[in-house]
Amino acid sequence: MQMSDTHDMTALVLFSGGQDSTTCLAWALDRFARIETIGFDYGQRHAIELDCRARLLDGLAQLRPEWAGKLGDGHTLEIPTLSAISETALTRDVAIEMGADGLPNTFVPGRNLVFLTFAAALAYRRGISHIVGGMCETDYSGYPDCRDETIKALQGALSLGMARPFELHTPLMWLSKAATWQLAYDLGGRDLVDLIRDQSHTCYLGERGARHDWGYGCGACPACDLRARGWHEYIAGSAQS
Ligand code: ZN
Repeated sequence: MQMSDTHDMTALVLFSGGQDSTTCLAWALDRFARIETIGFDYGQRHAIELDCRARLLDGLAQLRPEWAGKLGDGHTLEIPTLSAISETALTRDVAIEMGADGLPNTFVPGRNLVFLTFAAALAYRRGISHIVGGMCETDYSGYPDCRDETIKALQGALSLGMARPFELHTPLMWLSKAATWQLAYDLGGRDLVDLIRDQSHTCYLGERGARHDWGYGCGACPACDLRARGWHEYIAGSAQS
């Protein structure tokens, strides 16, 4: 999508406290005049990620004075209905495994559709037309609601349904996990990479006990596995260049 000039505009960033959404937040801080964030408490087992947001916001504000001035309201929406109707390993205490449909049971059906719809409803009220999310279809778990085609269709549906020309920005859509670390480096140097590594949360089980070279997590769940592989690929690539 051809990006319109957004330097005097406000964006609403889906910010969970994870690696991807924190990188998206830095990306948006670099491009928009003002930023609001929205996070969702949907009964996820790893709700600890939401607690990471304050430290990440503090860190981002300290990293660049101009970013501090852009950070506006942060919103947290509670949508327990999502876990009440979902039978998944993210919302129930069951083992993470592959389902017969080829999707891991960490897939929460409709999650990103619901998130983006609530985000658009909030954006509507606040007069914001740019929404930024960390959906990615390159190194991902196969979730169909992370696909570019889904996001584009939803952008059309939300714009039609609210009679507002929303733009859904997904800066990570075509990036590998290693390239996402590189994007963080390009946006905020080593300090931003360190901040995201130490303070963002990815682990599906909500583990923050053990510190690995790629950050905190159980080290064994698919989210930790993706994060660790991306990190090692990033480090290997940056060592060569
Ligand atoms: Zn984990």
